[in-house]
Amino acid sequence: MPTDVLVVGAGPAALAIAAELAERGLAVAVLAATDPRDPWSNTYGIWGDEVDALGLGHLLEHSWSDTCSYFGSGSSDPADPANSPTRHGRDYGLFDKTRLQQFWLERCEAAGVQWIRGLAEELSHGSGRSQVRYAPALAADVALIEARLVVDASGHKAVFVQRPELGPVAGQAAYGVVGRFTAPPVQPGQFVLMDYRADHLSEAERQEPPTFLYAMDLGQGRFFVEETSLALAPPVPYATLKQRLERRLAHRGVAIEQVEHEEFCLFPMNLPLPDLDQPVLAFGGAAAMVHPASGYLVGALLRRAPVLAAAVAQALRANPAAASAELAQAGWQALWPPELRRKHALYQFGLEKLMRFSEPQLRAHFSTFFSLPKEQWYGFLVNTASVPELIVAMLRLFATAPWNVKAGLMGMQGRELALGMGLILTR
Ligand SMILES: Cc1cc2nc3c(=O)[nH]c(=O)nc-3n(C[C@H](O)[C@H](O)[C@H](O)COP(=O)(O)OP(=O)(O)OC[C@H]3O[C@@H](n4cnc5c(N)ncnc54)[C@H](O)[C@@H]3O)c2cc1C
Repeated sequence: MPTDVLVVGAGPAALAIAAELAERGLAVAVLAATDPRDPWSNTYGIWGDEVDALGLGHLLEHSWSDTCSYFGSGSSDPADPANSPTRHGRDYGLFDKTRLQQFWLERCEAAGVQWIRGLAEELSHGSGRSQVRYAPALAADVALIEARLVVDASGHKAVFVQRPELGPVAGQAAYGVVGRFTAPPVQPGQFVLMDYRADHLSEAERQEPPTFLYAMDLGQGRFFVEETSLALAPPVPYATLKQRLERRLAHRGVAIEQVEHEEFCLFPMNLPLPDLDQPVLAFGGAAAMVHPASGYLVGALLRRAPVLAAAVAQALRANPAAASAELAQAGWQALWPPELRRKHALYQFGLEKLMRFSEPQLRAHFSTFFSLPKEQWYGFLVNTASVPELIVAMLRLFATAPWNVKAGLMGMQGRELALGMGLILTR
């Protein structure tokens, strides 16, 4: 059967879009370097309200109602009010990776997705169709597959999709451990989104780029603790993060007893949007869909895959002779409409600011941000608020922020001005 859409990749983005396209009756093939059934190594977290709105709460392995962050100055005195947590009042969950993968795999298989193992190498467009040359996993030769449209879902280092070069890309870096500890590293039953306390560091170290602890109780004596740098170019090295994690724990009298799994996390936070007039479409990390202010992606994949698949299916049916460029065009418009592009520009502008903030500024900023009404900070973090709603939230943040944060928000440095202009000019 001729292929309508060839999806490249076998991560969450590839499976999500392949399932949605195939369920709309399209002939879909997935070309992946690895077996799509190979277990994923990343842990994926999501807010409870976000997963509930998608009706997918059953895909979670863990969830927490006791969710908080620490933005105080972090003296070691527990009686110090600066040590009290900011309570988020919203549930947070971790996906069961196997169940999430299975959820998409089963839908792909039921809808007849064809699996091809190989490394995509070259893309060309002839007679209005797309041809992909790939190195098959089980043969020495190069093979060719033709499709009406190619969707590049090969992750952040995308194989085909092109984007403008706009300078250094900031990476979110983290080093984490799932394991057992000599004492609970967080309160039993607790999820900590960001612990910015830094009293385990010297004054000189506190001048270096700040990092925070992301941590959770997994039950039965197991915890996940991860030292994280929100975003930096070049990224904070793993060795620094590991050392900071160990020192943070030691400062609280906690040592790692048994390592079950180590997580090395690095992905780009502010990739420029791809060119929206190219004849190949993209989805997921390849399409710069990671939220530039939080690093989250999975919720966006689940929300946006049906919208994109519907647009592609409609374009294919509307014009059975449509060329790849035309189909990709319909897809890009659905994936990155002006409203989402404006929001992306706004988040990128915000991230640029945060990357310049000192440790006290960051703590004060986040403390103010999470004091906003819950709908406002949640709408910002999950990308469900409209542009006007985001602007209202940001104005409120500015009005209620302390002076050190106001000063940081007002001063324009580096490429902030260009990003701000981009925000105004996005159409
Ligand atoms: C450690 C870590 C933790 C994260 N935690 C979260 C989280 O909690 N919540 C969240 O929402 N996001 C999280 N993210 C961010 C984001 O969700 C992930 O990076 C996500 O895996 C990106 O999905 P993707 O499908 O776009 O790309 P990937 O998962 O990177 O998948 C790319 C796929 O393409 C294949 N491929 C690549 N090149 C080729 C080629 N030439 N030919 C054929 N196949 C190819 C690869 O083999 C792979 O199967 C995390 C990221 C990391 C690294």
